[in-house]
Amino acid sequence: SREEITYFGAGPALLPTDVLKTAAEALVNFEDTGLGLAEHSHRSELATNIINTAKADLAKYIDIPDDYEILFMQGGGSGQFSATVYNLVGIWVERRRQKIIKELGTAEGADVPQDKVLERLRKAVEEELKIDYLVTGSWSLKASQEAARLLGPEHVNVAADARKVNDGKFGKIPEEKDWKLSKDPAMVYYCDNETVDGVEFPGFPEILKPSGEEGPIVVADMSSNILSRRIPVRNFSVIFFGAQKNLGSAGITVVIIKKKLLPPAVSTPEPALLRKLGLPVGPIVFSYETIAKNNSLYNTLNIFDVYIAGQVLKKALASFSDNVTGQEALSDKKAKLIYATLDAHPESYKVVPDKSVRSRMNICFRVTHGDSIADAEKAFLAGATKKGLTGLKGHRSVGGIRASNYNSISLEGAEKLAAYIDEFAKGPR
Ligand code: PMP
Repeated sequence: SREEITYFGAGPALLPTDVLKTAAEALVNFEDTGLGLAEHSHRSELATNIINTAKADLAKYIDIPDDYEILFMQGGGSGQFSATVYNLVGIWVERRRQKIIKELGTAEGADVPQDKVLERLRKAVEEELKIDYLVTGSWSLKASQEAARLLGPEHVNVAADARKVNDGKFGKIPEEKDWKLSKDPAMVYYCDNETVDGVEFPGFPEILKPSGEEGPIVVADMSSNILSRRIPVRNFSVIFFGAQKNLGSAGITVVIIKKKLLPPAVSTPEPALLRKLGLPVGPIVFSYETIAKNNSLYNTLNIFDVYIAGQVLKKALASFSDNVTGQEALSDKKAKLIYATLDAHPESYKVVPDKSVRSRMNICFRVTHGDSIADAEKAFLAGATKKGLTGLKGHRSVGGIRASNYNSISLEGAEKLAAYIDEFAKGPR
């Protein structure tokens, strides 16, 4: 039964049972309307209420300032690998265009010749358009590869590659002083928590902190650690995350975006201009401007998914009087307990990432207990399953063991895992 299992899967992840029970009822008959939530129109008032309540609760829980917009999108975290490129490159182009117009305008008096603007813009795109990626694990690598696919590799600058400081493998974050950031990149992109490799940024990078009015455009993928610690939202231009780890079910992706990157402050360039510049025109459903303009209802959104996320947020708000700070303390405590148990048995376990960047959410380790790692890991997993500890197999690309310590894992669940890790190490080799 559900009660006997603690599921450590990396996503989709465990959801609170009471949330699922409420959602199950809502799926059949939402608030006695005689219709379930998957049947109600996304244009109905109740759908709008569900969206607006989820937005308000998310803002309250993680402290999102008023000058940020919250969007519910589709296409998952992978969709955002592309969406971030289309949108932020568009904004870069538009800002450059304005700058060029200003420069030409003051230099030559009144009217600005459009062909001159285009010529200058073409040159700027060719010589200066860059997106910076901090590649610290499989997901930021994938995002950078998508950018190269859409724009051409000449526009992608891998400002840091963690494999270069760790024998060709992920597991460390290069020192900031060695990052090769571009001068005016369309964005600096990084993944705050690398789900596959168990690498998490300990905090916001010093070098990317805004100084004065305009800081660098920083975009972060927080798919696997959102809602688990307080984040300095104002340091970011865009934060995105798929719902299926700490927020809810797969199917919706949340984007938190600075309003300064939306109209009326800045608009996406005309498709014709992007074509003239040889730049890709993104799908309309990936346009932040379009989704923001329509309060996330440009097209049919899965309101049931938003409802589940809303229920998770309600529960979180009720559980911690100090909102995400309370969850952060609990997440730290659970992660510390598991890492400490692994560290207590160095002959039986090896944690994969460097101590300085160990993820609190995805605890990746190898089982070195006995002669063969493969056999030891098989035995470890089999023993865990017997105790109801499931979902512990590492990502297929790297192998090993991965215990995903998301918010729905209770302290008792973490304690059970720690007890098993200890017991297995003390068992026969
Ligand atoms: N980013 C991170 C950090 C992830 O963990 C994942 C999925 N596990 C993704 C992006 C991709 O998300 P999706 O499967 O929703 O496209």
